[in-house]
Amino acid sequence: MKRILLHICCAGCACYPYQKLKEEGFEVVGFWYNPNIQPYEEYRRRLMATGYFAQATSLKLITDTDYPLKNFLKGILAKEEAKEVRCSFCYEMRMERAARSAKERGFDYFTTTLLYSKFQQHNLIKELGEKLGEKYDVNFYYEDFREGWKEGITLSKKMGLYRQQYCGCIFSEKERYSEYTL
Ligand code: SF4
Repeated sequence: MKRILLHICCAGCACYPYQKLKEEGFEVVGFWYNPNIQPYEEYRRRLMATGYFAQATSLKLITDTDYPLKNFLKGILAKEEAKEVRCSFCYEMRMERAARSAKERGFDYFTTTLLYSKFQQHNLIKELGEKLGEKYDVNFYYEDFREGWKEGITLSKKMGLYRQQYCGCIFSEKERYSEYTL
């Protein structure tokens, strides 16, 4: 059985990819590394929801709780606030940790639940995955998990998973709520 390390950005986004990968015959292990989530209380909430998801679905989960706030902020600020550029830094930071970890732990593949989201830059995530797969000499598994968008939402609601209102960083939080007038 092929072993795959699944980077999980949040519990809700993990529902469909985890189910699909199991159906495809993979032995799946989850991997949490998301220092992009702010503020820290929100980070803990999403981490706890992911822990709950893993327990409820018997998913083995590796949690990397390193939270290099300064480095993350420096990285996205250096890219200014342009969403496309800052997100690229953010994807790569998280996926690189997953690729490295997959290689070190002897997995056959790595992938990410970021490929499930309709709100992320899908093609860029695919490109970064392929680049990191080459860099760390581990296969990147690509699938367009967006096809299961509705199914994933149904599953997450059924499980009563926490559903966040914004992507993760403080910029995304501002963008989410700036549509409301004060
Ligand atoms: S919007 Fe989301 S993906 Fe983009 S930098 Fe912020 S947390 Fe990362």
